[in-house]
Amino acid sequence: MYVNVDLKYVVDVLSSYMNLKDEDFIAYYLCRRGYNPFEVLVAIVLSQNTRDELAMKAFNNLRSVLGVLNPQVILSQSPEVIEDAVRVAGMYRRRTLVIKELARVLINLDSLDKLLTMSVEEVRDLLLSVDGIGYKTVDVFLLMCRGEPVFPVDTHIRRVLKRLGIIEEGDDYLEIQGKVHKLLPPNYYLKAHLILIAHGRTYCKAKKPLCNECPINDLCPKNI
Ligand code: SF4
Repeated sequence: MYVNVDLKYVVDVLSSYMNLKDEDFIAYYLCRRGYNPFEVLVAIVLSQNTRDELAMKAFNNLRSVLGVLNPQVILSQSPEVIEDAVRVAGMYRRRTLVIKELARVLINLDSLDKLLTMSVEEVRDLLLSVDGIGYKTVDVFLLMCRGEPVFPVDTHIRRVLKRLGIIEEGDDYLEIQGKVHKLLPPNYYLKAHLILIAHGRTYCKAKKPLCNECPINDLCPKNI
């Protein structure tokens, strides 16, 4: 069922109830603290399908073993060294393969800062050529590190938007993103991305959503 919910108003209401902490969002945290673009991408890979808290532990382990991360450092290490460091995030062999492949693709850049200055299309093409990197990873990078007007869709956001009646069950990534782009002004994308994830973690949980305590209970058709 499609419902005409005012998403901007929903985001405003949720913002007034929730206190976001930088460290709950690994890419946001690292971008704001000046980590290099490659490190942010590694962190986003570490956060795929796991909690940001565990991704942060894995990232810190990797940083303490290897120092500042760049493609040269990653490619000079055996897979086992990286696997051991990122084990805490789960799927450590797969993550190591993706991080190695990312390093192989990016090692030919003159400078990692190119990732901040090349066109959005070039960044997309480059990163999407890495096996294991998809739209969401690229969009998180573009939004967090470059402030580009793109809305990344994660599993919490998909669930919340579906329950709010804004998207349909079978909508794919680009369809969901397109709907959000129509409903929110670009200067809301970052705030909405963070607040909807926080809402999905806190109230609108996958199992047993806390509808009775939910700040937007009266706005929500509860398409559960
Ligand atoms: S009322 Fe329930 S289903 Fe709707 S957003 Fe809140 S927790 Fe989610």
